[in-house]
Amino acid sequence: MIIILKDNVDQRQLDALKKWVESQNVCVHQSQGTQSTILGLVGDTVHIDIDMIKQLEIVEDVRRIQEPFKSANRKFHPLDTVIDVRNRKIGDGNLCIIAGPCSIESEEQIMTVAASVKKSGAAMLRGGAFKPRTSPYSFQGMRDEGIKLLLQAGKANDLPVVTEIMDISQLDLFAEVDVIQVGARNMQNFELLKQLGHSKQPILLKRGLCATYQELLMSAEYIMANGNDNVILCERGVRTFETYTRNTLDIAMIPAMKELSHLPVIIDPSHAAGMARFVAPLSRAAVAAGTDGLIIEVHNDPARARCDGPQSLTMEAFASLMTELDSLHKLLHK
Ligand code: PEP
Ligand code: MN
Repeated sequence: MIIILKDNVDQRQLDALKKWVESQNVCVHQSQGTQSTILGLVGDTVHIDIDMIKQLEIVEDVRRIQEPFKSANRKFHPLDTVIDVRNRKIGDGNLCIIAGPCSIESEEQIMTVAASVKKSGAAMLRGGAFKPRTSPYSFQGMRDEGIKLLLQAGKANDLPVVTEIMDISQLDLFAEVDVIQVGARNMQNFELLKQLGHSKQPILLKRGLCATYQELLMSAEYIMANGNDNVILCERGVRTFETYTRNTLDIAMIPAMKELSHLPVIIDPSHAAGMARFVAPLSRAAVAAGTDGLIIEVHNDPARARCDGPQSLTMEAFASLMTELDSLHKLLHK
């Protein structure tokens, strides 16, 4: 349910209304739109009498929200959410580029890639320490040691770091991680999402392999309903009948999410394509469609990468892509 307020409302009447709503065991989120102030009510609102609220002097209108996602809904929060990660902003109209290897493999590797992507203009460093691999015989990541090396590389290059959590038992290791990634395979790990809702760290939530927009938003809702509003949505390609590319990049998710939700949306062209040569064209398409950022896999030696080498850009290819994307973004969106 949303309560749309009249302009210049009396603060005491507003406080009294909020207090009354909270006394009904419903949470109130106040948000400022371009036109009006909105109170978003989250919780069981069936027993709330709409007509009674409509009659209040400060109330313009009251509407029920049909969609099952409330906190993530654009109707609750008309303005875009901007997430601040140590002064790097996602969602404010900038193009936020996160880059780094699929997995952290050694100190030398992560330090080399971090310095290079920083020089090319990346805003954040990615690197997986806990890897969700299809085969239990594949490299599973450097785990605790990987997180330490990632943090070290981030500090040395003044880059906030992004890394994937696979189980809530790992959370203590993520205390200094700037953005916690929830991978496609864990998008509906509801216990994990609930626990991440108790954290204040931004969560990069990847779309599941076969998840609909609504399912992705319901997963965001799990995090937000538990108190963490810092959610970044990420499209990384979905599974379709096509097998030529690793996944099928759903560019429509960008405008669709901008309509349905206020949360920032980023694109992962690396996992969508599965091939390094497709990363640049898919990145360009995402920038043209209005993405808030990209997360791109970059490796110092893709041919010898322990994970996702074929889709990883060389450091040189990433540098030239950055120059190109910067001009494209300025041309289209400034
Ligand atoms: C990754 O980012 O390396 C990864 C495993 O991503 P996804 O969950 O999208 O497959
Ligand atoms: Mn990967």
